[in-house]
Amino acid sequence: MRQITCPSFVLSRESFGESDLIVTLFTKGHGKIKGIAKGAKKSKKRFMNALEPFSFVKISMRQKGDNSLFFLENSLTIQPFQRIRSDYLSFLMASLVLELTDMWFKEGEKDDKIFDLLKWYLLSLEDGQDPFILTLAYKVRLLSAVGLLPVLKRCKFCGKEPKDPSVSYSLGSGQIICLSCCENRNGNIIHLSSIKSLSYLTDCEPSRIFRLKITNSNKRELWSYLKRRHSFCLEEEPRSYRLIESLKDRLF
Ligand SMILES: [Zn+2]
Repeated sequence: MRQITCPSFVLSRESFGESDLIVTLFTKGHGKIKGIAKGAKKSKKRFMNALEPFSFVKISMRQKGDNSLFFLENSLTIQPFQRIRSDYLSFLMASLVLELTDMWFKEGEKDDKIFDLLKWYLLSLEDGQDPFILTLAYKVRLLSAVGLLPVLKRCKFCGKEPKDPSVSYSLGSGQIICLSCCENRNGNIIHLSSIKSLSYLTDCEPSRIFRLKITNSNKRELWSYLKRRHSFCLEEEPRSYRLIESLKDRLF
């Protein structure tokens, strides 16, 4: 039997039987964990409302043996993210980020760097920062952390730095292709100015992210590039995109 207590984000939850909840957590130190909260639907005392998606909680769990299910014992809410819940766009963007985090990590897989990134993301969003820019930054930093963001400086085929103001890119590797090497110019076009913004979002000090000024066309290109890159690597498109993209007029 082992007992752990750790800071966690609630990624999702689902009903299990009449009174229990199955909760997916992303924790500091233990990575992604799925656990059962016995009686959580009937007796609200033990968990209060801590087991809502997004909530930042300190949670105690026990596990009978390696690889067996975790039993959630009690939790203390650190930050309930009320503002995110009351703003529709922030809520949708945060839902996408939780869904992506859930998809990228297997149960038991640990990554404290991503835990810290998620914490920064949700706290900045709660603080009222731009949901669109924050979400782009989270997505590009996650790709970079897992080693799946290609170097976007040289053409995949000729190896030269592109001279034209825009390039194409490969859906498979995400690498850029200069227009001289590109056979099909119809789709997957991205301007070098968008790539410059993407590099800024990847490498700058987190507090400087909101200084970025980008045009709507740069926003559209980056949104599309990152969505394709994530969905290609995950071999699946997160469901949250559908609702977000119905708000296109508000986004770009
Ligand atoms: Zn080339």
